[in-house]
Amino acid sequence: MFRWPISLRRCAARIGFASCLCWQVGFAATPIADPDAFLKQTQDLQLKNHLRYLEQLAQLNQQASSLTPDQQWRLRFLNAWEAMYESDYVKSEALLQDIIRRSGDPAWVDRASALLLGQLGLTRRYTEAFELANRVAERLPQVTDTKIRSTLLVNLSSTLGLAGQADLAVRYAHMALAAIPAGEGSCRTFAFLVSALYNGQRLKPDSPELQQALDTCPAASEPVYHTQLVLTLADLYANGGQPRKALALLDSIESSLEANGYVPAKLSALVNRAQALAALGDDDAAKQAALAVVAEKKSSDIDAWLKDTYEVLYRIEKRQGHTAAALDYYEKFAALDKAYLDDTHARALAYEAVQQHVLLQKLETEKLSRQNAGLRALQMLDAKTAEAHRLYLVLLLMALGFGALAMFRLKRSQLRFKRLSHLDGLTAIYNRQHFIVEAERLLHQLEKRKGAACVAIIDLDHFKSINDTYGHAMGDEVLRRVVIACNQHLRTVDLFGRLGGEEFGILLTDCSHEHGMAIAERIRAAIEATVVELDGVIVAVSTSIGVAFTDTAGHDLHHLCSAADAALYGAKRGGRNRVAASGVEDLVAA
Ligand code: GH3
Ligand code: MG
Ligand code: MG
Repeated sequence: MFRWPISLRRCAARIGFASCLCWQVGFAATPIADPDAFLKQTQDLQLKNHLRYLEQLAQLNQQASSLTPDQQWRLRFLNAWEAMYESDYVKSEALLQDIIRRSGDPAWVDRASALLLGQLGLTRRYTEAFELANRVAERLPQVTDTKIRSTLLVNLSSTLGLAGQADLAVRYAHMALAAIPAGEGSCRTFAFLVSALYNGQRLKPDSPELQQALDTCPAASEPVYHTQLVLTLADLYANGGQPRKALALLDSIESSLEANGYVPAKLSALVNRAQALAALGDDDAAKQAALAVVAEKKSSDIDAWLKDTYEVLYRIEKRQGHTAAALDYYEKFAALDKAYLDDTHARALAYEAVQQHVLLQKLETEKLSRQNAGLRALQMLDAKTAEAHRLYLVLLLMALGFGALAMFRLKRSQLRFKRLSHLDGLTAIYNRQHFIVEAERLLHQLEKRKGAACVAIIDLDHFKSINDTYGHAMGDEVLRRVVIACNQHLRTVDLFGRLGGEEFGILLTDCSHEHGMAIAERIRAAIEATVVELDGVIVAVSTSIGVAFTDTAGHDLHHLCSAADAALYGAKRGGRNRVAASGVEDLVAA
């Protein structure tokens, strides 16, 4: 579940009211003796004592007209931070954009960009977030102020984490740690590193980074970050088969959760409590914790916590034989799970699109500068006398010759980039984006000539535990071998793509219901028979497959995929390592 970095949005629910009060009541206009020191002290209070922060901010706003221009930009920045904290993203963005456009000071532009970056991610404006991330990354070499540099780096880390770029996120977090100015605490930056590792599913209870963070934060008097780190550890225990350890940790932070008053942290603790209690068979207590999460949340949210909560409730009701309630919770869980996956895919797609755009722009700039060189040579030729014509003609021909060669190379590399941009980097089959474009095109053609097709969605079983037990290198090798196994049963006309993680899609064109099921079954058996060997270690793998058909789901790719997804869920619930056809799954009884 994506939880880090701390979502300021929900925290605001508790504090926003207090802030409004402070704003309106106002304060006696005691002149601020040293505005610079007062501004700095106010900023330091942001997360340590938020109520005091609001009081001082109100005082500063009252006396804004007596501040110097630089102090006013600083105040505007604090106001933008507060608006974001209170979920007023429109106001916050307007203030930040104003700073970026008008302050004329690169340091303020960088600070405002860093905050805006975090906010665009929070509000799911992924394309804009990744575009800004590219601009910020380009600026990094010129940013010498160590504090600004480390802030930019942690925000880049969390933005790239959103894009599913775990390696880059971890690398930026490490760079941020290295950039921490002397005398500054490292708790917050460690927290971002832990977050990057957690979101990349590379964090274990005994990871040294987590231990270092847990050792650093209490001394830094950053209670919110410390509690969050303990919650991360509890989550790893709760989802890693150690429910007793998770419960002991959750008990140990009960009072600080209350004291911090940070709502997301409380919800997260409740979810982990429900999971741990359910794992220990204490259904009543687990249900109580889970229902407390449901009561707190709006059901329309795409929220990983709520998804996990419904899963706990579904399992409890199923175990107790309450079929109708189990089905109800299962449907809620499946809908949120799908929405969460769609959101993850949307992020990855937006990131890929932005990177492609940048690449194209670079190529275009290169091409233009070459064309300009050719034009300049022509102008020179015009200006020269007739006697020199022959010499210049030779020069021109040479320039054009080199130009043509350069254009040829450029075209070739453009084509290569285009081809590469269609492929998944790990397995070299089509990536999700290209799979979708091609599948839609083929289905459209088929529909016109009333042809039939099947869509199969393949999801490896317990793949996470392969990564956890044998490492990511083994996981990657498994993915490559699975692709080889599948390819052996596909025709050249079939479309095969990696939809994300350990999930693959296949479009079988001109294919009947029976034929589609037979191919899916052959693929399942081939994967089951695949033995993956890496550095002397041998791993077996199995897969579940959901298949949907145009004769029942129609030719719309979205419908076909939803139907195949539903069948896949059926296959998972039925015990995994099996093929399920769309339309025949029985949701709860399996
Ligand atoms: P289930 O049987 O329910 O499908 O369980 P699962 O463990 O396969 O499902 P889950 O979706 O929880 O795990 C998917 C895992 O895939 C999590 C992530 O670590 C891993 N993963 C995603 N992309 C990659 C990748 O590119 N390489 C490797 N090695 N692992 C990846
Ligand atoms: Mg999966
Ligand atoms: Mg899986």
